This record gives sequence, structure tokens and C-alpha cells, in this order.
Amino acid sequence: MTLRVGLIGDPVEHSLSPAFQQAAFDALGIDALYALWPTSAVDLPARVTSLREPDVLGANVTLPHKQAAFALVDDVTERAAAAHAVNTIASRDGRLHGDNTDIPGFLAPLDERGLRLHSLHAVVLGAGGAAHAVVVALLLAGCGGITVANRHPARAEALAAELGAPPSLRTAALDATLAGALQSAGLLVNATAAGWQGDALPLDSALLRALPPTALVYDLIYRETPLLRAAVGLGLGTLDGLRMLVHQGAESFRCWTDQAPPLEVMWQAALSARDRRA
Ligand code: NDP
Repeated sequence: MTLRVGLIGDPVEHSLSPAFQQAAFDALGIDALYALWPTSAVDLPARVTSLREPDVLGANVTLPHKQAAFALVDDVTERAAAAHAVNTIASRDGRLHGDNTDIPGFLAPLDERGLRLHSLHAVVLGAGGAAHAVVVALLLAGCGGITVANRHPARAEALAAELGAPPSLRTAALDATLAGALQSAGLLVNATAAGWQGDALPLDSALLRALPPTALVYDLIYRETPLLRAAVGLGLGTLDGLRMLVHQGAESFRCWTDQAPPLEVMWQAALSARDRRA
């Protein structure tokens, strides 16, 4: 019996996940097919229920359903509870287990770079779903200090309030008042959608000059963005979101199969898929 697993979201056509997840199943000789499951909000409960069928391993969940899916599974991991969102559902004996692998996925590339989060201040741009997962990840990793800045600052304040306003978390507007926080930042994360299309920067390029020369600029978008180009121009270290995407997928693979994910196979497949898309 061919097992089924897929990506639930709306839209899903742009996703690189089928390429690198299928490569992982094939590399380990697991008879499974990773499909795209475009799903509207109205159809989400039925789609999640269908994961209880015996030939289904589980699913990934992406925009805009990560929060809604959280309420539809039988239990969740601690990190998914902290983020109040699931991006991975594993189906075992008809029960649905929710996890949030965006959290370890975000942290793994920082660990690979040897970044010591305890002793640094991170500035996170954005206050949507991705920023929420990033802030939870930084809090769980014991990051020394976090400033969340958003175009609409009230949304950053709401995010901090939702997380219980921990003392290490501050909020800011995405304007010149952010310069002070940037001056002491070892890590700048772009978790906004700015740069996904076109040449928009999430913040004024002059503000980037406030960063110390040792700062790392991490854009969750999984290719070179205007922000990363500007950071390279200033001699700063950079990281795009492809490594995060592959690490979150590798952790999802582990949830579905209980097997160690073939990370290098997944990475190479993701790189090729991104190149084909470019
Ligand atoms: P949401 O729609 O939930 O949030 C969008 C955020 O972007 C908001 O904070 C919004 O600000 C901000 N924003 C949008 N346009 C601009 C702009 N022109 N200037 C400044 N801020 C802007 O999206 P998500 O949080 O789910 O996703 C954000 C990004 O993260 C996406 O590009 C996505 O591709 C990426 N991502 C990557 C992952 C990976 O594995 N690499 C995983 C998940 C997400 P406001 O509130 O003021 O409107």
C-alpha cells in the first residue's frame, strides 16, 4: 500500500516541499507519495479528518491554516502549544498529533552557524504567523533579548501580550526609533512578507547601517531578497530561509516516519527545485 502525505494550505502550488519530501521518502525506500492538497478554510475540518484514514502518514500545514489546524488535532507538542499553531500533523492509529517544526527549523541554521543565542539581542521584523513562531523559538532557546518590530506596531504589542509579555521581549515600530535596538543586535530576522515579490525592503536601508558589523541578517524568504542584497553590500553575514524550510521539513519527516531524515538528500533536492523555479 502506498502511503499518503501532503501539504494543506491555500495556495500551495508554489511549494518546494513536494520536491524534497519525495526525495527523502525515495532515498529511504519508503513507499509514500507527497501531494499538494489545496484546501479552503471551509474545507479544512474535512481535510484534517481525512488524515485519520489508515493509508495517511500525516500532513504539513501552511498559510493560512496553521492556527485553525491547531484546534482540529487530538493533541499537540509543547512547542506547538507555545506557538498556538501547527505546521505538521502526524496520524497514528487514527489519532492526530500536531507539532510546530518551524520552531526547530528556524533554530537549526543558527546552531549550524555556531550562533550563541543566550548572549545576543535579536530584532525580529514582522508580527504575523512566521514572526510568532520565530519569537517563540527565540524565547525557548533562551535568547538574551528580543525586539519585535512591525509596520503596524499594535500587532507587535498584541503578539507580545499573547506570549505573556516576557521581560526579555520588547516591541517597536518599524521606523527610525528602531535604530537603538539595531545597534545592539547580533541577529536581525525578516519575518515579514516584504521581499517576497518585487524589491521592497522591510525597513529603511539606512537603518541597516545601525547594525554592528558582526550581525547576521536572516531572511525567512527562501531565496536572495533585497534585504539580503543590502546586507551583503554592508559586509554583514546573511542567511536565507531555504535552510529553515528544509530543517522544518526534516523534522516533519521524522514525525511521520520515526526515522532519521536524510538531510543532505533533502537539501540538494530543495536547491534543485529552487533553481528550477528561478
Ligand atoms: P503574515 O501574512 O502572517 O504576516 C505578514 C507580515 O509581513 C506582517 O507582519 C506584515 O506587517 C508584514 N509586511 C507585509 N508587507 C510588508 C511591507 N511591505 N513592509 C513591512 N512589513 C510588511 O505572513 P507570515 O508571517 O506567515 O509569513 C511571513 C514571511 O515568512 C513570508 O514571506 C513567508 O514566505 C516566510 N516564511 C518562511 C518560512 C520558511 O520555512 N523559510 C516559514 C514560514 C514563513 P503588518 O502587520 O503591518 O501588515
